Amino acid sequence: MYHLPELTPTVEIRRIAVLTSGGDAPGMNAAIRAVTRAALHQGIDVLGIQRGYSGLVEADIRPLTSPLVGNILQRGGTLLKSDRCEEFHKPAVRWQGYEHLREMEVDGLVVIGGDGSLSGARQFAAETGFPMVVLPATIDNDIEGTDETIGFDTAANTGLDAIDRIRDTANSHQRLFLVEVMGRDSGFLATEVGIAGGAEMILVPEQAIDLDRVSEALQQGDSSARPSSRIIVVAEGRKPGRTQRLAQALTERGFNPQVCILGHIQRGGNPSARDRVLASCLGAMAVKVLQAGQGGCLLGVENRHLVQRPLTDLGERLPLDPALLELAQLIQQ
Ligand code: ADP
Repeated sequence: MYHLPELTPTVEIRRIAVLTSGGDAPGMNAAIRAVTRAALHQGIDVLGIQRGYSGLVEADIRPLTSPLVGNILQRGGTLLKSDRCEEFHKPAVRWQGYEHLREMEVDGLVVIGGDGSLSGARQFAAETGFPMVVLPATIDNDIEGTDETIGFDTAANTGLDAIDRIRDTANSHQRLFLVEVMGRDSGFLATEVGIAGGAEMILVPEQAIDLDRVSEALQQGDSSARPSSRIIVVAEGRKPGRTQRLAQALTERGFNPQVCILGHIQRGGNPSARDRVLASCLGAMAVKVLQAGQGGCLLGVENRHLVQRPLTDLGERLPLDPALLELAQLIQQ
């Protein structure tokens, strides 16, 4: 459980809006529910912006009520829908969104999303000065300013469940499996799933695949006591087909790998207890932060404390600690 900061209301907030943007993550619904209920409890109206920044730009905005956010806590996906909005990269389009918020007399905006959504929010806040709070929600866990993002725990457990199942069949047939997990730029999910699933090797997108090193490690495994199964966790990377290409190359070197691509299965499903609690606490806190006149920040968790980080302080994507991969290697065989 988390320690909460003391926040005193200093500004009158009558209406707030909330949106979910970018890749969906399990727990987004729990965050929407918490924002809505905490606000309504304080007598604040809540508007739900549909389809992320697209709905903001197109003024696709509807009121949220307590019953509307009922029975969504346990569901993956997002009630408000999500989208990727290329147009939002243009300043004039962002100002259009700002105008819609002013027309609807919105006093604060809560953005729930990943690294890209955070960049969009940072631009928007810097240009317009509009009070906004960002809640980190992505299965990638690659956001600076928080130890954990909403959705990461669930996605890791979904991936792990798949690996455990694959391990059963791999063991029975003494097979080598390449299991592709999500992660275009970031290897947090692959590393978490790989360590938890006892993978023999973890290949993250931050590092190019060294085919010689991979085949050498596999050969070593073959020449020692024959392992009953081997699983290599491969993050998908930016260029589609990374795992298939690796499988092809390993086949040419005399191995017989089976490929399993987990794909979007990792995004869906009921959020874990941990993600529901994180999303609920951050969602309720977002309303308090706006009431305290402290918008312009990301809310996150650090050492079990819910913390605020100014959007202007946040740099690029959180890098993966290579020491983690070394640690994983120590226990691989
Ligand atoms: P995620 O939030 O899951 O990382 P994306 O990277 O696709 O997802 O970003 C979501 C949306 O955020 C983009 O479609 C775009 O509308 C907005 N966005 C991302 N980066 C920027 C930016 N630098 N400036 C303005 N908007 C941005």
